[in-house]
Amino acid sequence: MKKYNSIGKEEILAANKVLKSGVLSEFIAKPGDYFLGGRNVKKFEKMVCKIFKVKYAISVNSWTSGLTAAIGAIGIEPGDEIICSPWTMSASAISILHWNAIPVFVDIDPVTFNLDLKKLKSKISKKTRAIMAVDIFGQSEAIDEIKEIIKNKNIKIISDAAQSPYAFYKKKFAGTLGDIGGYSLNYHKHINTGEGGIIVTNNKILASRARLIRNHAESSISKFSSINDLSNMIGYNFRLGEIEAAIGIEQLKKLKKIVLYRQKLAKILTSGLSDLQGLKVPYVRPNCSHVYYVYPLVLEKTLKIKRDKIIKLLVKEGVVGLMKGYINLYELPIFKKKIAYGKKGFPWRLFKSKVNYSKKNYPNTEELHNKRFFGILLCSYDYKEKDVNLIVQKFKRVWSKLGLNVQK
Ligand SMILES: *Cc1c(COP(=O)(O)O)cnc(C)c1O
Repeated sequence: MKKYNSIGKEEILAANKVLKSGVLSEFIAKPGDYFLGGRNVKKFEKMVCKIFKVKYAISVNSWTSGLTAAIGAIGIEPGDEIICSPWTMSASAISILHWNAIPVFVDIDPVTFNLDLKKLKSKISKKTRAIMAVDIFGQSEAIDEIKEIIKNKNIKIISDAAQSPYAFYKKKFAGTLGDIGGYSLNYHKHINTGEGGIIVTNNKILASRARLIRNHAESSISKFSSINDLSNMIGYNFRLGEIEAAIGIEQLKKLKKIVLYRQKLAKILTSGLSDLQGLKVPYVRPNCSHVYYVYPLVLEKTLKIKRDKIIKLLVKEGVVGLMKGYINLYELPIFKKKIAYGKKGFPWRLFKSKVNYSKKNYPNTEELHNKRFFGILLCSYDYKEKDVNLIVQKFKRVWSKLGLNVQK
């Protein structure tokens, strides 16, 4: 099966136009018009604001850069804690360590795979400054419920919506409901510019700070009089190039269509697979939508057949794009050993952090990863309707072979 490819003649033309102009980036790291980038960067950001209905969009050269800038923008102290899901790309948690803050993982919810909100409260401490709300596989975090939990506390919400662009959470776009959030534009995501990312926020100060961090903050900070809080104002070069921005403009035009098609495919899968014995199809929260970066599936506890056996049979039938388990971030050496900088356990030791990354704290994450979760990489391959119809048939054949029911 072909890899999914959304790059067409529109992107080729747009990139060529930039190449012919010879102006591949117009950013300058000093106050003035070009502090905010070139014409394609600005146009791209304007389009993002319009589509996602946000006041500010700040393009960056990756969403890892975006997360780093977003956390810097909220202005935390070293040693502060940010709560994060262990089921996400490492960048969600590592961006926290970039500011010498400490990631605190909360177990995941076995139904949505986002944070287990029942366990969130107990992880909030005096040092908690933010919740990193990761919309894993393409469904928004339950932002309203998180807001309720952190009500009257000085805790910000950072939305990692890398996998959920154009997903809705109660009439609003995933990624836009917290204090600051954004999307990835890397090659594997719904839309891409090769590498790239977008920060979105409705908060003017957070936007200014993120723009500063993107473009060597310290070189220009004295000229931006509205910013007098110097915390985390170490700048980087997170600037997006003009070619990527021009490609991004074309990709944005296609986003809705791409997502709607993926939702159509997911609908076929869900209606075909929902009666299979012991198999749980994706749960989508009421009044919300899922954009299926991954089409997630769970084997019920009652099912006595091992996941590996099922996957082996599905692969033998020719099902393409299966994945099993996900990522348990607390298992990375950096967290197991609690060493991020130097050799002496920085930042945990310096701040006498008691955070415990033992896997005992994450029973749902462990069980799903080791035994019960698998998924279809809907975003990675060029599935057509006939392909997903075939996937349904193949699942049914495997289920029958295993002596399981294929209808209720
Ligand atoms: C892809 C991804 C990132 C990182 O984005 P890049 O643009 O590759 O830096 C962060 N978080 C999640 C959840 C992702 O899926």
